[in-house]
Formats: sequence, C-alpha cells, structure tokens
Amino acid sequence: MPTFVRTEKCDGCQGQDKTACMYICPHDLMKLDKDGSDTGHAMKAYNQEPEQCWECYSCVKICPQQAIECRHYADVVPLGGSVQPLRGTDSIMWTIKFRNGTMKRFKFPIRTTPEGSIDPYAGKAEAVMANIADNHFFNHNEQNGYRAGDPSELICK
Ligand code: SF4
Ligand code: SF4
Repeated sequence: MPTFVRTEKCDGCQGQDKTACMYICPHDLMKLDKDGSDTGHAMKAYNQEPEQCWECYSCVKICPQQAIECRHYADVVPLGGSVQPLRGTDSIMWTIKFRNGTMKRFKFPIRTTPEGSIDPYAGKAEAVMANIADNHFFNHNEQNGYRAGDPSELICK
C-alpha cells in the first residue's frame, strides 16, 4: 500500500526547508507544496508518485503529525480502507480501517535509541581497499563448482 498525506493533519513540518518525510524517503517521493500550485494545498506535503512508492513506511513512522496513512490502490482494494499509524515514544499503534467500518488496532514496540545515534559499523574492522583485487577476499578462486569471473573470458562484440 502506498502512502498518502492527510492534508488536514500535515503542518508542512512548520515550514522547514526539508520536511521529515522528504528527508527520510529513500525514493525522493515526498514533496512540500509550498505555494499550493501543485495540489491546491499550500505548505502541505504529498507523495508525488504513489505508484513508485517502495512502501517502506519510513515517512509514515517519522511524520511528527501522524499525517501520513497507507491506502491501497482503489482498483485492488475498494476505497474506504486505510491503515493509520500513531507513533508513541516506545511503540507504534496501527489502526486498520475496513471498508465496512470495522476497526482493528495493533501495537508494536519501536526502537527507542535517539535518531542518528546508531553506528552500523561499530566494532567492525576497517575495510582494506588494497584487498579488493584479491580473489580470496571476495570469494575463493573455485568453490563448490563456482569460481571468480575472469575478464579475459568476456566475449565482446
Ligand atoms: S513529515 Fe508529516 S507533517 Fe511533516 S511535511 Fe511530511 S506529512 Fe507533513
Ligand atoms: S513509504 Fe517509503 S518510499 Fe513510500 S513515500 Fe514513504 S518513505 Fe517514500
């Protein structure tokens, strides 16, 4: 399900140059419509191309206004259903709304480390770039019937 911004909830991240959803989207889909010329809603963000959405929900989780919800495509799931997150300090509550009005809620714990504080390379050895050409660095010359590629075997036309 791609994401959509609920304009009545979005505050444009209070006019910052780059909103939280723009900052986090790995596919650069979110855009702040500063003057309203794109959507008719000034200072509201929107997903420029929902069909390109990776559905990673990073924008959903980071939005401080809980203004981004997930909806399925109308041709797959009829209009009316939605998934809305409510992020707390240590958990996120997902509200699932069915077309017939049925609501279900699921609560999951979330990471509580401060944003930007994780060091993914902590405790790992520094890369030695000089090893990059060593066959044994990436793979053995021959292993389980496979061997490293040999550029001289390339057929170029
Ligand atoms: S992160 Fe939320 S509040 Fe901020 S611009 Fe995006 S949708 Fe609006
Ligand atoms: S769900 Fe992911 S890919 Fe889709 S708009 Fe949000 S951040 Fe971007």
